[in-house]
Amino acid sequence: MWAQRLGRALATRSASSSLHRRISARIVDNTNIEVRPEQDSQPLTFPGVWLRDNCLCPECFHGSSRSRKLDWDNFDTGVKPVSLRTEDQKPDKELVVQWSDSHESRFSLQWLRERSFEEKRQQSYLADFYRPLTKHWSGAEFPTIARHFSYEEVMQQDAVLLEWLQSLAVHGVALLRGAPLDEGVVRRLAERVGFIRRTTYGEEFVVQAKPGAQNFAYLSLPLPLHTDLPYYEYKPSVNILHCVVQTESVGGSNLLVDAFHIADILRRDYPEDFERLSRVLVDWNDIGSEDGREFHNIWRAPVICLDAQGRYTRVNHSVPQRDSHFNVPLAEVQPWYESYARFVRLARADAHAFKTQPGDVLTFNNIRLLHGRTGYDDTERNSRYIVGAYLDWDIIYSRLRVLKKGGGSQ
Ligand SMILES: [Zn+2]
Repeated sequence: MWAQRLGRALATRSASSSLHRRISARIVDNTNIEVRPEQDSQPLTFPGVWLRDNCLCPECFHGSSRSRKLDWDNFDTGVKPVSLRTEDQKPDKELVVQWSDSHESRFSLQWLRERSFEEKRQQSYLADFYRPLTKHWSGAEFPTIARHFSYEEVMQQDAVLLEWLQSLAVHGVALLRGAPLDEGVVRRLAERVGFIRRTTYGEEFVVQAKPGAQNFAYLSLPLPLHTDLPYYEYKPSVNILHCVVQTESVGGSNLLVDAFHIADILRRDYPEDFERLSRVLVDWNDIGSEDGREFHNIWRAPVICLDAQGRYTRVNHSVPQRDSHFNVPLAEVQPWYESYARFVRLARADAHAFKTQPGDVLTFNNIRLLHGRTGYDDTERNSRYIVGAYLDWDIIYSRLRVLKKGGGSQ
């Protein structure tokens, strides 16, 4: 008797709560589908053509590769939903659609919610999951934005790995401390994320004063602010610089500038310079040989590169690696020099200087930050030994997304 009464009470409660939570759907304008996840919730609207394109049945979708396999050579963009049904019984509620091409598709409510066309949902997907939104900073703000992480924790803990990569994506710079002083650190770190990006100069490279240097960086002279490899179409994205030995002389400090911040200043205060620097194609080049292999790299790109929405994608700047070939109309030359000189002076004035210590690994976005070095005395007793490598953003962003989804160590 007790059991029966209790059973009836439970049944009543679950009936009323499922009534309240019942999913419903309707066809709007003969093409769109409006889904109401619960009785009183705001409806989510999905274009019919998009739903049909994204049908998840085995005929239209290859599950293990999570790829569409719909026959797009014959896809009817005029396809219409004919009737709808919703199912509440499943662990996740479902929408079932009958289409004008006699096909049937089912979509779980969770799948639909994750892809809703609401602007707020799309913005948060783009800013949190696709690529974290960048925050630009001035040199004076460097000490507050630059985060430090323990090298060992980054290597051992996925949560710390995620934090480091997130900082790198948002601010373009982060420092790891306490790394061992062996030459394998940059490789181990790169492989913790993915894999090293190889360039003309190899995979790992050593920055120290070298006689007969093939690259301007391999001198003990001051190294003016620049981005690495502006002469590549596919530029290495993130610079990893492991300080193994640091000079005891006064110089040898790193200089860093957020060139996106400098671009913000130009855009606001000197719009003509901004326009010119983001439009005029500059020939960047590098000629030489490494390990007996001769190279001649050229890539033409503006100093400030923008995407279709006017957002910065990358910055190119290098005095040594700007070609004497300048393939622009004559009338562009003098104004471009004026604009470029303004960019260089603003950047120099904003540079933040600091000196890494042995065991520090400085990581920064090479296509956003400008970096340089003050000069130092290089003697036998006073040397500087930095091991570097590059990582690509594709690899970093992918790792970040997997970590955010809760994926573990590789
Ligand atoms: Zn299908």
